[in-house]
Amino acid sequence: MKKLEQLVRKNILKLKPYTSARDKFQDGIFLDANENAFGSTVESFVNGLNRYPDPHQKELRKALSKLTKIPYEKLFFGVGSDEIVDLTIRIFCEPAKSNVIIPSPTYGMYQVACGINDIKVKSVPLDNNFDIDVKQVIQAVDKNTRIIFLCSPNNPTGNLLNRDKIISLTKNFEGIIFLDEAYIDFAEDKSFLNYLSEFNNVIISRTFSKAWGLAGVRCGYCIADEFIINLLFKVKAPYTINKLTSAIVLEAISQLKKRDEIVEKTLWQKENLIYNLSHLKCVEKIYPSDANFILVKVKNAKSVFDYLNKNKIRVRMRTDDERLKDCLRVTIGTEKENNLLIKLLKEFE
Ligand SMILES: *Cc1c(COP(=O)(O)O)cnc(C)c1O
Repeated sequence: MKKLEQLVRKNILKLKPYTSARDKFQDGIFLDANENAFGSTVESFVNGLNRYPDPHQKELRKALSKLTKIPYEKLFFGVGSDEIVDLTIRIFCEPAKSNVIIPSPTYGMYQVACGINDIKVKSVPLDNNFDIDVKQVIQAVDKNTRIIFLCSPNNPTGNLLNRDKIISLTKNFEGIIFLDEAYIDFAEDKSFLNYLSEFNNVIISRTFSKAWGLAGVRCGYCIADEFIINLLFKVKAPYTINKLTSAIVLEAISQLKKRDEIVEKTLWQKENLIYNLSHLKCVEKIYPSDANFILVKVKNAKSVFDYLNKNKIRVRMRTDDERLKDCLRVTIGTEKENNLLIKLLKEFE
């Protein structure tokens, strides 16, 4: 186990967090928070919007703990997992001094969040299977390296990262491993979660934005050592998860079957789409995917991209990595949407 305290910025360790009105008393007559005692201007399906939400996220943490068997103390909810990325950087990285390592190509938000916080990024290429190059990553570590960002399944390539490689990095790195499992619901048995208790320097982040179909409510969560969870609570704004979000996510958690149905539908459509794409002349390669999107290598991606856009079909194209040059990232759509995509691509050939 790592000595986590040494990794935390001194000002954060010393920080005296804001104590909100609802920290101490959760019942009684509330004349302590300058809320409006007369009610709200808007009727909602959620009661009590005139009162601030619970800063400790108790109901959400209890419900998710019950569902996942993850201890309550190891859970933290964020306004999307994007908030958790930002908070993690702010807890562990010293602006203008620390650096992080990002195996690339991957999700662009880590780099942006580092830029906002004035943290240098060392980009280390993923290997030819878009898996971790453990040796190169370890070589890139210096005394100011605080976080390694990993994304599994990786966006935009779709592949899971090798578990033994993650473990190897985790053992050989004295800082924090931020493991983004935004897409893990599409390959749930492949999660790193079962190994988490052996390593106190790993933060697993997840989201309700993808498999749960709730991108619009902005809610993500992470699982980590209690020490890290307490730091996250210490630095977050007091009332990040609002009552509307909370109500919707609680409802979602109680409907796990629905998520499983959505996942099943997605995976079925993914199989169909891969099959249909593989018969097109313009398609050169379809990368293996454990997510709800696929990376497709085509002949002349730019012209395919422009053609699809003209037909109001939006896919993503990344040009910052040589290996993605002729690739399109395609999210799995409904049967109708996927069929239209295939029809258009056939006509393009
Ligand atoms: C979509 C996505 C997320 C989700 O972010 P939220 O802020 O929770 O919506 C996180 N990580 C990756 C890699 C993603 O692709």
